[in-house]
Amino acid sequence: ERARETHRGWRVHDEADRAQLGRELSLLGELDEAVATGGLHVHYQPKLDLGARRIRSAEALIRWRHPELGALSPDAFVPLAERHDRILPLTRFVLDTALRDSAEWRRRGHDMSVAVNVSPLLVVSPDFFEAVAQIVAGPHFVRGSLIFEVTESAVLEDLESAIQALHAFRSMGIAISMDDYGTGQSTLAYLQQLPLDELKIDRRFVQHADKDRNDAVLVQSTIDMAHKLGLKVVAEGVEDKGCFDFLKSAGCDAVQGYFTGKPMSSEMLIREMTSSTRRAA
Ligand code: C2E
Ligand code: MG
Ligand code: MG
Ligand code: MG
Repeated sequence: ERARETHRGWRVHDEADRAQLGRELSLLGELDEAVATGGLHVHYQPKLDLGARRIRSAEALIRWRHPELGALSPDAFVPLAERHDRILPLTRFVLDTALRDSAEWRRRGHDMSVAVNVSPLLVVSPDFFEAVAQIVAGPHFVRGSLIFEVTESAVLEDLESAIQALHAFRSMGIAISMDDYGTGQSTLAYLQQLPLDELKIDRRFVQHADKDRNDAVLVQSTIDMAHKLGLKVVAEGVEDKGCFDFLKSAGCDAVQGYFTGKPMSSEMLIREMTSSTRRAA
């Protein structure tokens, strides 16, 4: 009886919904294939440290060059992976790749850490914890050279468990960054409770901060507050010189954005690093 009801429940969906579901499932199949056959890769976007005046870390951003659809943005398949329980294998791939690539950066003399985005669904997942423990025990991990970027929604679901998980990651030598800061239901209480190292101000506040008075106030006070809490501040989405100069004078620790570097392959990043080291010498 129940099955029939469910069945009838499905039937109320119209053709458009059914077509949508069909597309979603076929994309999911292709995603599985991409994970299994090397169809995914990782690009890196530098975070430029304004004090040290050099790139001290880079964020790993997943890429999928789909055979027919072309380059797909993570926004087109990360939520899909989350909905269908594929986010763990996908993140494992990014972690493995990022650690291998960052080991290569160090081997070439570039002392840089790598940041990996961790889906809200994974922060408190025991399976993810297990995967991280394995990676930490592996050959490419160095304490202090891996950063997890987590969003506010990840920690608000279950604050107590999130605090516990983040503490555990930190004790393994992983730094924690709060991503897209300002877009969630940020409360000052949890900022104080969470074991964080870095705050990334979302690009929607950053982008026009040099021209928009309200954005400028929000960005400046976030930087000041974060510093008082002992956190480093990164501004994301810095697209032009005006914005860059504003953040510098506002005391921001690091910037990330098209102005200082687009996401690029690991080889490209190494080339950039090598030429900027040469310029500085
Ligand atoms: P995010 O972590 O906030 O990453 C920043 C996004 O902004 C990236 O988009 C980056 O390419 C883009 N961006 C960087 N600088 C600029 C700029 O100056 N202007 C503008 N307009 N955009 C800029 P991308 O690579 O498309 O990634 C989108 C989101 O997908 C990421 O947002 C992140 O939440 C998610 N994502 C990416 N890779 C992964 C992953 O491996 N795992 C998970 N769970 N999520 C990922
Ligand atoms: Mg991020
Ligand atoms: Mg972000
Ligand atoms: Mg963002």
